[in-house]
Amino acid sequence: MKTEAAVTHLMNNYSRWPIHLVKGKGNKVWDKDGKEYLDFTSGIGVNSLGHVHDAVTRQLHQQLDTLWHCSNLVHVPQQEQLAEKLAQLSGLDRVFFCNSGAEANEAMIKIARRYAQKVKQENRFEVITFQQSFHGRTLATLTATGQEKVKDGFAPLPEGFITVPYNDIEAVRSVLSDRTCAVMLELVQGEGGVHPADPEWVKQLRQLCDQQGILLLVDEIQTGIGRTGSWFCYQQYGIKPDVISMAKALGNGFPIGAIAASETVAQAFSPGTHGTTFGGNPLAVTAGLATLTAMEQENAIAKVKELHQLIIERLQALQAAVPDLVPAIRGKGLMLGIQLTVPVDAILAEARNKGLLLLQAGPQVIRLLPSFITTKAEIDQMAEILEEVILGANG
Ligand SMILES: *Cc1c(COP(=O)(O)O)cnc(C)c1O
Repeated sequence: MKTEAAVTHLMNNYSRWPIHLVKGKGNKVWDKDGKEYLDFTSGIGVNSLGHVHDAVTRQLHQQLDTLWHCSNLVHVPQQEQLAEKLAQLSGLDRVFFCNSGAEANEAMIKIARRYAQKVKQENRFEVITFQQSFHGRTLATLTATGQEKVKDGFAPLPEGFITVPYNDIEAVRSVLSDRTCAVMLELVQGEGGVHPADPEWVKQLRQLCDQQGILLLVDEIQTGIGRTGSWFCYQQYGIKPDVISMAKALGNGFPIGAIAASETVAQAFSPGTHGTTFGGNPLAVTAGLATLTAMEQENAIAKVKELHQLIIERLQALQAAVPDLVPAIRGKGLMLGIQLTVPVDAILAEARNKGLLLLQAGPQVIRLLPSFITTKAEIDQMAEILEEVILGANG
């Protein structure tokens, strides 16, 4: 029987904005009453080519009329093509497809353990992760996450994760042992406040992993697929990880996740060791291929760098006007954080009233994840609203 309290049948696990979106195109979305919003969130780093991108939509329509699902008991030609493209773009060799970010990180953790235990025949299982990180909501990935709030009430947590301070090589050294199988990190921590990794530290991590014979795992779920101004963020750090995970922008809104690994590490996944029903589904890999092809055709990486410059100039001008309120601007490419000294919720709500969607990353950081097809006029519009609501917060 329906209880009095249930005005909705959805679980109450999200604190949602009071907005009901029904339509999107490019960088604009519309609510059920026809109010228009400028979207500087890309659905949390997902719609990097904007909403309902023409070429991606066309190819998905075609695939919808051709084949939806067929299982991984057979070969799916578009999986081969997308894997080849991802290998080209990443410099890694082998790809496994799944459906989400958390699932990609699960696969990354599993392959690291299995590589140690079955390929190298060592009894290693522990993964070192970092404070303020975010790796997902499954039991293993929330345990890997360096934020207590995602773990609350979910005990007992899986064994084999140890979390230390970010950008601190001694902290990593101090917990290394003959149980360690990998170090896992984001190169720009997204949910944790838009914190880029120190390049020197990342090089030291790579060296340390090589010396110890353990794996470097990079979570590129938010930073990957062009978001930070290179196809993958590690390409700006002069290192090569053993495994990377990706998801968010790979299908421009169609759910898809993946890991890519070196040939050596990929050996750990032999037939029957890991799998998923929906992973690499024809619709999902078609969306992935269409997205990457469109990004190449539209010179996405160059666009991200150009737009970064334009947005950063506006943000720095804002910071210069109210340095006490805005102590820092951080980030890379189109993954940007504005550190404030006050809570940002009310400021973001005011921006929404004025027709601008922005994200936060922790209580005092505004996060911008605009699409790669953002125009100069849209940056001006965003900056004007942002200035109004931030200067408004200054009294
Ligand atoms: C979003 C995100 C995840 C989790 O992805 P889901 O698709 O929500 O499971 C993991 N790691 C990072 C860095 C992310 O930004």
